[in-house]
Amino acid sequence: MKKTFALLLALSMVFALCACGGSAAPAPAATEAPAADVADAPAADAPAAVSAKLTMGTGGEAGTYYAFGGVLGSYVGSNTDVSINVVSSGGSAANITGIVVDGIYDLATVQSDVMTYAYNGTNSFTDNKMDAFRVLGGLYAETVQIVTCNPDITSVADLKGKNVCVGDVGSGTYFNTVDILAAYDMTLDDITPVYQSFGDSTESLKDGKIDAAVITAGAPTTAVVDLATSNSVYLVSIDDEHMTKLLADCPWYASYTIPAGTYNGFDSDAVTVTVKATLVCRADLADDVAYAIVSTIYNNADAITALHAKGAELSLDFATDGIAVPFAKGAAQFYAENGITVATVD
Ligand code: GLU
Repeated sequence: MKKTFALLLALSMVFALCACGGSAAPAPAATEAPAADVADAPAADAPAAVSAKLTMGTGGEAGTYYAFGGVLGSYVGSNTDVSINVVSSGGSAANITGIVVDGIYDLATVQSDVMTYAYNGTNSFTDNKMDAFRVLGGLYAETVQIVTCNPDITSVADLKGKNVCVGDVGSGTYFNTVDILAAYDMTLDDITPVYQSFGDSTESLKDGKIDAAVITAGAPTTAVVDLATSNSVYLVSIDDEHMTKLLADCPWYASYTIPAGTYNGFDSDAVTVTVKATLVCRADLADDVAYAIVSTIYNNADAITALHAKGAELSLDFATDGIAVPFAKGAAQFYAENGITVATVD
């Protein structure tokens, strides 16, 4: 069954990448996230019994979506009758395709920028607009990290002619790479793009098979933490002039400084941009199920933080600020009960 899913995913992403001019590589097989130990973390405000069995698409196994998605899935499953099977995937675009086109996911973690492109049919979604999904809530900030082990690569311009991993097939990272290169008047034709998961790309960095990898994920990211234990890791900054251009062209990004010390041996700040990791669901998910998931997560941020550090970024404001895709009605009901009005559609 999983192989069939992987094949469908691969085919749909080959189509998507052909549509936007990128080259394709096989999609990774989905694997299930390990269950978090939630036995000692009871939900404070467990909602009334609502039952469902759902599947959530996340990202590669060495990313933050998979780890944090696994924690959210286990937490909701342990505290409600909504069970969530959390699986690895290629990332944001593959997840939206998995919900809207292939029907293999009920829930997914996606980047706020990529979901907005998909919903509105822009960027590489021009010929395949996908709007049959809704937002449950923003989760945490994802930073675009340009990672290299080569100290001579100090600027995005230095990536010219280099082998650069631009994320997995179906990743959101791909879109960030295209936007950042554009701010430097470059395109994918100026680099040799390589499509790999975060885990594979950091292995390729170790082996010297690629020169840099773009990794859009919550920092510290497992794959980079691992790389930094064996290699010197450098994060390339976006300089002021090009940051101004990037933010003018793509106002959905926010400037962000990754502090020195985020990774072993990484001893100076790096300036980059963030997007928002966002939990979404299929458009026809029952309202009471959406309500149960959202209330269980956002009413229990402290208990979830005890299981994964990204829980500390969960808040009602972060969940709802700057989200440009309509919310699920069950989620909107929860936010309304907490004094926040969000957009919905029929
Ligand atoms: N934001 C990444 C993407 O969609 C995935 C991040 C992660 O796996 O933590 O490509």
